[in-house]
Amino acid sequence: MFEKVLVANRGEIAVRIIRACKELNIKTVAVYSEADASSMHVQLADEAICIGKAAASESYLRIDRIISAAEIADVDAIHPGYGFLSENAHFAEVCESCNIRFIGPSARAMNAMEDKAVSRNLAKRAGVPTPPGSEGIIQSESEAIAIAKKIGYPVMIKAVAGGGGRGMRVAHNDVSLIKGFHTARTEAEKAFGNAGVYIEKFIENPHHIEFQILADTRGNIIHLGERDCSIQRRNQKLIEETPSPLLENKFPKLRKEMGKAAVKIAEMANYTNAGTVEFIVDDNGKFYFLEMNKRVQVEHPITEEVTGIDIVKQQILIAMGEPLKISQSDVTFKGHAIECRINAEDPFDDFRPCPGQIQMYYAPGGRGVRLDSHVYAGYSIPPYYDSMIGKLITVGKDRREALDRMSRALAEYMITGIKTTIGFEQAILNDPNFRRGVYSTNFVADLLDGPRRGLIDDKG
Ligand code: ADP
Ligand code: ADP
Ligand code: MG
Repeated sequence: MFEKVLVANRGEIAVRIIRACKELNIKTVAVYSEADASSMHVQLADEAICIGKAAASESYLRIDRIISAAEIADVDAIHPGYGFLSENAHFAEVCESCNIRFIGPSARAMNAMEDKAVSRNLAKRAGVPTPPGSEGIIQSESEAIAIAKKIGYPVMIKAVAGGGGRGMRVAHNDVSLIKGFHTARTEAEKAFGNAGVYIEKFIENPHHIEFQILADTRGNIIHLGERDCSIQRRNQKLIEETPSPLLENKFPKLRKEMGKAAVKIAEMANYTNAGTVEFIVDDNGKFYFLEMNKRVQVEHPITEEVTGIDIVKQQILIAMGEPLKISQSDVTFKGHAIECRINAEDPFDDFRPCPGQIQMYYAPGGRGVRLDSHVYAGYSIPPYYDSMIGKLITVGKDRREALDRMSRALAEYMITGIKTTIGFEQAILNDPNFRRGVYSTNFVADLLDGPRRGLIDDKG
């Protein structure tokens, strides 16, 4: 068993990982930037080490400083969380060469899925459909136009290194394609230090459905069912639920097929640890591979709530070399779970981040309610990182109960001093189409633009 683990992250996911370690009797070491000195992960960990200035490039992305901290604290392993260095194969390699276990896939598996263009090709080899598109990175405007002509508009220009919904543009004609090609490249260079973009067909009325994977180091791979993450703003998830209403109501046979495809892709990559295979499903029930997230995902708790499996503990056990004690047929699903990402953002100003100090704070509770968060009254959300305040998760015996419970919990959640997405998410929960489980990734934009706009409470 590991004795001590360093958590190379911040915010709610650092708290989540520390909680799992405590329950496994593993000591924890937090690292933090100067802006996070009063952050909850620093207070909850057994030890805490400051690794630099506020900017992530000076702290949470500094491999040298994180490894120094790990050596000073003498840890057995590092958990990278999500974002930051979590999908950095070089970081995983450095950990391995310093004899520190990396709680995530091997550097080799990460390289096999290094970027989205590479993993698209891997999916094709696994016999899993991908949206029609370019073979690899697009170098020039003329190449972009040739591909678009071949696959037909609308198309999406996507950063190979993309994440968090950044570095992607939709184009409906040659003019917007050329513009999108350059803006996506610039955005990707700035956000990921890699300007490479590729092109794929834009799937209309898309549903984002993903499968949670667990793979041990002995070759056992299972999936823990799907999550429907179609409620998005700016191509980033806002609300997630499981099971997916689309699969439940319209395409019940797809679950098995997509689960198989997800496991196949993980197999082809010699994947280990927790990961997620993301798909786009169209209105006719055709599914396409999107990307594989080689880390724990923001929305992992809803899967935990319906399967009873603690994904972060599984990550730790797998990294220790333990075989999976669960086989595919042991995985059963009970009830329905939903998550709202509560962000410090203004939904009425294109979800602009609104960091600042929380004044009054009251967290919802009661049966079937889970809150994964790092904030408290008086805490200031720093402007340097993402704007998540926490994740509110509810579980119920069926979808209706989970949704009613979420509505109740959102109404209880009181945060003053900053703008949040709570009111907007309440409006989604009240929406008749959402209630019926009829929605695609267009849902949020339609809600903000359409006639129902007037029904949303601006004050949040
Ligand atoms: P998930 O895929 O787990 O649902 P998101 O896409 O919302 O999560 O990303 C979670 C966090 O990780 C966000 O802060 C996002 O900005 C960050 N992130 C995700 N992918 C990358 C990446 N490739 N590079 C940098 N940050 C990333
Ligand atoms: P990220 O790494 O930022 O998570 P993804 O490739 O997973 O990027 O895409 C994020 C979201 O963008 C998807 O959930 C979906 O809403 C939208 N998207 C991506 N590719 C397509 C596509 N080919 N057609 C339609 N929507 C897409
Ligand atoms: Mg994605």
